[in-house]
Amino acid sequence: MGRSLGINNIPPKICTYACVYCQLGRTIKMQTERQSFYEPEEILQDVQDKVEETNQVGEPIDYLTFVPDGEPTLDINLGREIELLKQLGIKIAVITNRSLMWHEEVREALVKADWVSLKVDAVREDIWRRIDRPHGTLRLSSIQDGTLDFAKAYTGHLATETMLVEGVNDGEEHLGEVADLLARLQPDVAYLAIPTRPPCGKVGAAPPRGSR
Ligand code: SF4
Repeated sequence: MGRSLGINNIPPKICTYACVYCQLGRTIKMQTERQSFYEPEEILQDVQDKVEETNQVGEPIDYLTFVPDGEPTLDINLGREIELLKQLGIKIAVITNRSLMWHEEVREALVKADWVSLKVDAVREDIWRRIDRPHGTLRLSSIQDGTLDFAKAYTGHLATETMLVEGVNDGEEHLGEVADLLARLQPDVAYLAIPTRPPCGKVGAAPPRGSR
């Protein structure tokens, strides 16, 4: 993505997941309801100021990337923010855990971005619950359906990210099933990663309160 300016559109750390490997620390608030966190115009102004600053020092930005301390699609204004930021003439990226892909408005917002990265750690419910420790109201089957609908409609650059955690989601059979899903999604690139920083939780430990 070249030089990317990160946009933090979610206060730390509000997420739909409490991934066992999260490098941001424990999820402070788990929720699945989308809401407004900041005024879209305020985000535009902050980004515009930063873009001008970097231009002045001769370091132009290639991507404006929504990569907050939480899940970016919880922001109900995400679509509007993408539209506003397009005025700056810089490509827009969103890195999401895809937990709200069943939500039509989330898909409508993401389709506006030039580059979308989706987390695909697990395709089996039990493994998903162990590694991503989702909010108790989420259902993996609806997320998979929404993800497939999105991938079919999306014409931008689609990436997937799979974090491998030893003994949890890296079994050969499960990885084969992950590969089958990726084959159906047809991303432009599929990243496989391993945690390189200390994770916030132990596999099998209970997720934070409020997740069930
Ligand atoms: S989805 Fe991202 S921010 Fe949320 S818990 Fe997982 S790694 Fe952390």
